[in-house]
Amino acid sequence: MASSAQIDELRNAEIEPQGHLIDGGRQPSRDGSVLKVFSPRDGKQLTTIANGGAGEIDLAVASARKSFNEGSWSQMAPVGRKKVLIRLAELIEAHAYELAVLGVRDNGTEINMALKAEPGSAAGTFRYYGEAVDKVYGEIAPTTNNVIGLIERGPIGVVGVIVPWNFPLMIGSWKIAPALAAGNSVVLKPAETASLSLLRLAELALEAGLPAGAFNVVTGPGAITGEALALHNDVDILAFTGSGGIGRRLLEYSAQSNLKQVFLELGGKSPNIIFPDAPSLEKAAKASVNGIFRNSGQVCISGSRLLVHRDIHDDFLAMVVAETEKLTVGDPLDTASDIGAVNSIQQLEKNLGYVASAIKEGATLCAGGERILSQSGGYYMQPTIFRNVSADMQIAQEEVFGPLLCVIPFEDEEEAVRIANATDYGLAAGIWTADLARAHRMIKKVQSGVIHVNCYGGTDITVPLSGMKQSGNGHDKSLHALEKYTALKTAWIDIG
Ligand code: NAP
Repeated sequence: MASSAQIDELRNAEIEPQGHLIDGGRQPSRDGSVLKVFSPRDGKQLTTIANGGAGEIDLAVASARKSFNEGSWSQMAPVGRKKVLIRLAELIEAHAYELAVLGVRDNGTEINMALKAEPGSAAGTFRYYGEAVDKVYGEIAPTTNNVIGLIERGPIGVVGVIVPWNFPLMIGSWKIAPALAAGNSVVLKPAETASLSLLRLAELALEAGLPAGAFNVVTGPGAITGEALALHNDVDILAFTGSGGIGRRLLEYSAQSNLKQVFLELGGKSPNIIFPDAPSLEKAAKASVNGIFRNSGQVCISGSRLLVHRDIHDDFLAMVVAETEKLTVGDPLDTASDIGAVNSIQQLEKNLGYVASAIKEGATLCAGGERILSQSGGYYMQPTIFRNVSADMQIAQEEVFGPLLCVIPFEDEEEAVRIANATDYGLAAGIWTADLARAHRMIKKVQSGVIHVNCYGGTDITVPLSGMKQSGNGHDKSLHALEKYTALKTAWIDIG
C-alpha cells in the first residue's frame, strides 16, 4: 500500500508549464503554442505542455541523429551504457513517489497500482536492459576454414517512440530502455493526456549521464506531432503502442516515407475462460474482476470477455458481481481507492456509449453502467458487467478500453475456443482449469500472444509481451525486445 504521507506532500505541488526536451534542454514550441493539461481526478487544469509540430520533430530528430553519428552514446562501450542505465534505474527509484503522483494527476490510474506499474516497473526495465547490454554477444558462423563469417548486432540509428496514456512510464520504458541499451538515439512522442512523467524521466536520464540528444521528448497531438515523427525520413524505426486504427496509419506513413520498420503493440479483446474444474473458483472470480477493472479497464491485456461454462455460469457470475461490489472507485490519489479515474472525458463518453449500445443489442446489465462522482469534476465510472452477451455483439467484438465486462456462456472446450478466437484481436487470454492436458490443448488453440493459466496478468520483465492477429507485430520486454532495436550485420573475412 502506498504511503499517504508521501502522497500528501506531492498531491498539490505546482507543475510548471512544460517545454519539450530536445538536445538536452527544455524548450518551448517555436510559435509558443501550448496545450492545456486537465487532471481526470477533478477536471481541473494542472499545467500546460508545449504544442509541438513538424518543426520541433525536425529539431529533435536532427539532435538524435547528430548524437548517434558523433557516437557519444552509440559508440560508448557497453559497460559504460550499462552504468548510465543502472544509474537511471536508481534515480527512478529515488523519485518513485514524485513520478507516480505526477503521473496519476495526469492520467488517473489508482496510486497503489501506479507506484508498482509505473516507476516500479520502469526502474526494473532500465536495470534489466542495463544489465543485459554487456552480456549479449555476436556469433562466428561455422563456415569453411579459409573465411570467418561474423554475425553481429549493432544499433540502427534514430528510434521514434509513440506511446498511449494508460501506463506511460511502464510502456515508454519497455521501448526506450532496450532502444538506448542497444546504442540508438530516441525521439519520444507521449500521449497528450500523459506526457508529464515521461518528460521528467527524460530529465532524470540526463542526470544519470545520458548525453544530450540521445533521448528527446516532443509533446503535442498525435495527429500532428505523432504524424510528423512517423512520416520523418530520418527516423529508422518506429515503436508504437496504441490502437489498431492508428497502428494501421503508421504503416501507411512508413510506406509514404522511408520504409522505416514499424513495430506495433495494439489492442485486445481478451477472453478469460472459466471451466468448472478451475482449482479455485473464488480465486478465479477475484482475478477475473481485477483483470478487467483495475485502472478503470484501461489495460491492454484486460480480460474483457469472461467466458463461463454453462454448468457454473450463474453461480460464478454471482461471485464476480459480489467481488466487483467490494471495489471502491474514487480519487486515484487516495490509497483506499481500488479504481481511479477514466483518463479523459472523451474516453468516459466512449465507455458510456458502449453501455448504451450493449443494452440496445439486448445484453443485460447486472452491475454498474454509470458515471459517478461527477460532483468532483473528475471522470469516474462504475465497474460494469453485462450478461446475455452473444459473441457477435459490438461489446463482444470491439475493444472498449474501459471498465466493462461481458459475460458469455459456453458448452464445451470446442465452443470456448471458437468464441475465444472470434475477434480480430489476439493479445491475451486466461484459462482456468485443473486439467493439465486441457490447459495445454487450450494454449495451443487459443490465438493469443500471452496466455495465463490459473492466474491473470504477469508483470515480470523477463517474459515477452506480444500480440497475434490484429493485436500487433512486435514484442516488448525480455531479451527478445532488444532484437527490434538492433541491425543484424554479417561480415565475410578472408583469412586465406
Ligand atoms: P491511440 O489513440 O492509438 O494513441 C496512441 C498514441 O498515438 C498516442 O500518443 C497518440 O497521441 C498517438 N497518435 C494518435 N494519432 C496519431 C497519428 N495520426 N500519428 C501518430 N501518432 C498518433 O491509443 P490510446 O487511446 O492512447 O491507447 C489505447 C490503446 O492502446 C488501446 O487500444 C490499448 O489496447 C492499446 N495498448 C496496447 C498495449 C500493448 O502492449 N499491446 C499496451 C497498452 C495499450 P495523442 O494521444 O496525443 O493524440
